[in-house]
Amino acid sequence: MALSLKNSGLLAKPAPLNLPYLSTPPLKKIYYDKSLSKSVIVQNVLRGIKNDESYQNTEFAELEDYKEFIKESQNSISAKYDKRTLLIYPEKGNYLHACPGSDGVVCCRYHVLDFGMNCPYDCQYCYLQTYAKIPFLTVAGNVDFLLADLKQKIAADPEIQWRIGSGEYADSLALDKLTGMGKILIEFFSQIDNATLELKTKSVEIEHLLGLNHNGKTVISWSLNPEYLVENVELYCSSMKQRVAAAKKAIEAGFQVAFHFDPVIYFDNWENEYSTLIEYLFSSIPETKIRWISLGTFRYSPGLKEQLRLRHPDEFITRAEMFLARDNKYRYLAPIRIKIYEFLLSEMQKYSPEMMVYLCMETRSIWKRTFNEEIIGPAKLDARFEARRQTLIKKG
Ligand code: SF4
Repeated sequence: MALSLKNSGLLAKPAPLNLPYLSTPPLKKIYYDKSLSKSVIVQNVLRGIKNDESYQNTEFAELEDYKEFIKESQNSISAKYDKRTLLIYPEKGNYLHACPGSDGVVCCRYHVLDFGMNCPYDCQYCYLQTYAKIPFLTVAGNVDFLLADLKQKIAADPEIQWRIGSGEYADSLALDKLTGMGKILIEFFSQIDNATLELKTKSVEIEHLLGLNHNGKTVISWSLNPEYLVENVELYCSSMKQRVAAAKKAIEAGFQVAFHFDPVIYFDNWENEYSTLIEYLFSSIPETKIRWISLGTFRYSPGLKEQLRLRHPDEFITRAEMFLARDNKYRYLAPIRIKIYEFLLSEMQKYSPEMMVYLCMETRSIWKRTFNEEIIGPAKLDARFEARRQTLIKKG
């Protein structure tokens, strides 16, 4: 079967949407649970909005019971998709858990730090559109509980080098200028020997983090896509070049960085666009400062396409031929995914043959075809992440 783009069902490129980057989240309402009135997060947010004119009309209020507020919002049709409201609440459950992965995919033993949900940006592919059970943005306010939970779990397994990332259910830094969560976490992880924190973001607001004592224990990472996709699909996000420029600043402040080519989208001219992006990345960032790069092709759960088309009838990302895989996600056909991974890998290896590149949420057979080697399990992958860490330490 020929696998040309024409057969894939992709539409021609629409005109760019070019929606402006939201450097300051345009919040209209901020609520916090009354149990958190002394929380450092609530105090940070209050100070932040007082010092910023753009929040002069923002409502800031205490809630008797945040659970009631959530219940009411879930019943309100008008609040179905509300990126202008922030709730600061006391998360009582597990803050840290193993990355949920997906049925049949290779696991890399990543752990997710879940301190908030949702973000002010509006990526068309964002799985939170169907996953998030509440319509607005949330951030946890009971930081002492969060840090205690982290400390206890990390200490329970001192033999492993933990990789813990906070960008699974929310952008790690999109609200950070207001909440100050990044500073709290960076300082906490600076004291932990056997863990690395990853702050995964599309924000470029990192100035307030640059002077912190991170002790080499935090990696700041950016998702990257060609500028054309940023303009059309990653709505209200910073540009690709802004993200690379922010990574340069982070490196100058001594941070290591990482990049996620995820989701890679199969569209007209994708090879040229991704090749240009890779060339730009490696001509801007020294490869010895890049801790890892992940690759993952676009996938989505049933319901996302319908949800997306209600708001963006001209969207083009779900028009390619995709099939419902055993993990109940629509994915590109395997030969297309392999073609994409092989291409991206070979482009990256031109600039950095030793780069730690891994696939996010991919099957064993796709791993095998891409890297030309037998099954890679969590232990082997862990060893590779650790080897990369040690290599970069030696290279300084
Ligand atoms: S930045 Fe991440 S969390 Fe925010 S809309 Fe995009 S994909 Fe979703």
